[in-house]
Amino acid sequence: MRWVFFTVDGNEYVGFLKDDQIMVVQGDPFQRDYWETGDVFRLDDVVLTAPCRPTKIVCIGLNYKDHAQEMKMELPEEPILFLKPPSAVLPHGGDIVYPDGVKRLDYEGELAVVIGKRAKNVPAAEALQYVFGYTCSNDVTARDLQKKDQQWTRAKSFDTFCPLGPWIATDLDSANLNISLEVNGVRKQASNTSQLAFAVPELIAFVSGVMTLEPGDVILTGTPSGVGPLQKGDTVTVKIDGVGELTNTVV
Ligand code: MG
Repeated sequence: MRWVFFTVDGNEYVGFLKDDQIMVVQGDPFQRDYWETGDVFRLDDVVLTAPCRPTKIVCIGLNYKDHAQEMKMELPEEPILFLKPPSAVLPHGGDIVYPDGVKRLDYEGELAVVIGKRAKNVPAAEALQYVFGYTCSNDVTARDLQKKDQQWTRAKSFDTFCPLGPWIATDLDSANLNISLEVNGVRKQASNTSQLAFAVPELIAFVSGVMTLEPGDVILTGTPSGVGPLQKGDTVTVKIDGVGELTNTVV
C-alpha cells in the first residue's frame, strides 16, 4: 500500500492510493487500526505533506561501497550514525533553501525507513516487524561546512535539508530496490539497495541498541556514489522503484 498524507483547503487527511485516487481513512495506519471514511480525492487535487512526523531522523554515513570509494574513506566496521532534526523535514514539492554563506550544497538520494512501532534492542532477525514502510529522502548537505566543522551537525541540519516523500510504501523488499537521483532531468546517481554495506535489518538492530525508536521515526540508509552540487533553481528528484518520486526545487 502507499499511504498518503495531505491537505485539502487546509484540512489534514490520511489515505491510501488506489490508482490516481486517494481513499481517505481515519484511525492510525501505523497501528494497522483504521477505517475508510468513504471520502475520495484525486491525487492531482491535494497538497502532499511530509509522510511522517519523526521525533528523530537517524542517518547512516558511508553505507554504500561505491560512495565510500568516491569519498576516499574506508567502509566503517559498524554503522556511522548522525542525526538530523525534525525541523529539517520538507515534503514533496517543497523548496530546499540554499543557506546564505554556504559554498557547496550537495544532494544525497537515500532510501528512508519509517518505523511503525516502538523499537528497543531489536534483533536483526525481527527488525522488519518494526518497519511501517519506506519513502524517498534527500540527505541535503552543506559539504563545505561538513569539512570545516569536522563533525556534521550544522552541515546536515538546516531547515529544509530533509526532503521526505512523496508517501510511504509498505510491504516492500528493502534488500533489492533500484534507487536513482536526477538534477534537472539528468541522472546523477543510480544504484540498488543490494549494495548497502549494512542492510535495513542490521541498521534497525544497531540503532535500536543505542536509542529507542518511536513510530514515525526515520532512518536514512545512506547514499550511493555520484553525490554532487546543487545550484539555486535546480530541480532534484529521488526515485525508488516501488516507492515513487520525491521532487524538490532549490531556492
Ligand atoms: Mg547521507
